[in-house]
Amino acid sequence: MVVETIDLAVAETITAFRENPKSRWIIGFSGGKDSTALLKVIYAAYLSCETKPTKIDVIYCDTGVENPILDRYVKNLFSSLNREFQRERVSFETHLLKAPVSDRFFVKVIGRGYPTPTNKFRWCTNKLRIGPVSNFIGSAAEADAIVCLGLRRNESIQRDRSLSNNGNHIWQEQTEAGNKYRLFLPILDFSVEDVWEAICEMSSPASINANELAELYKGASGECPIVRPLEPTPCGSGRFGCWTCTVVRQDKSSLGLIRAGFSELIPFYDFRSWLLQIRNDPDRRWPQRRNGATGPGPLTLSARKEIYSKLQKLERETGTTLLEAEEVQEIERLWKLDEGSEPIRC
Ligand code: SF4
Repeated sequence: MVVETIDLAVAETITAFRENPKSRWIIGFSGGKDSTALLKVIYAAYLSCETKPTKIDVIYCDTGVENPILDRYVKNLFSSLNREFQRERVSFETHLLKAPVSDRFFVKVIGRGYPTPTNKFRWCTNKLRIGPVSNFIGSAAEADAIVCLGLRRNESIQRDRSLSNNGNHIWQEQTEAGNKYRLFLPILDFSVEDVWEAICEMSSPASINANELAELYKGASGECPIVRPLEPTPCGSGRFGCWTCTVVRQDKSSLGLIRAGFSELIPFYDFRSWLLQIRNDPDRRWPQRRNGATGPGPLTLSARKEIYSKLQKLERETGTTLLEAEEVQEIERLWKLDEGSEPIRC
């Protein structure tokens, strides 16, 4: 049954290639198990199909605050995939997408004073993930873009309902920022078993190491969406998301990895817990919003500087670069704009 499901997905992808020879194919890749199975299915179809697309872009959203373990895994994988794609002379190409400097996580928090995201004020998904992907698709949309995603029907009841409402099919229409394109969801009917079967049993691309992925993936699922979701997807609750995510009370994904032996995540985990703890502290927030309305406003300059200094400490402790030079420059520029104009708490 598993093999039939995978074979069917490959056959449907071959048909899709035949019927859309001139389209621009884009694969949304997060490094998670579903998008890995998706890549394997599409690659198998590509190898077997005589009508090959001229270009298939594999895109990963580099938010700058991605779970460091997964981020390292994906970046290493992309280097190795690039070599394999060239060696095999296939028309796949990888791309790391980044938000503009002004939209990056710490520029918003430390520079502009945005409190870290919650479900009610989830400013990050659009800026860090959906925006960069949408721009990429926008530049490809003229060539009739087809975006392939590793969505699965039985991931959640809510998702099932939404996918049913949208035609109950592996093809969906999507409009984003004025760009119309199609979503192609060839693993829509995969079970978790099918996903792992595809990852472990399909031999290409050979750069994907199923064991390494399985190690990262013990026990959690769910990813932050990179195109506007067909349904509200729980974000940050799975293995893969931003290490700074305060949308969830507890970062189960990092905790799971720490328990699985990735102890280098502990300082990141502690930092996130601290961010969560201070985000609602009235002494660290302006007493009013930027537009003058009452209610807790942006983080105070001193709170932003406090976060900055702790982040620098975290960089030293973990030996990682968490702020790029251009981000520091932008933060300092934003601080200057707010200096002297902070509302005073009575
Ligand atoms: S994982 Fe959390 S912080 Fe990152 S984009 Fe999604 S909601 Fe925002």
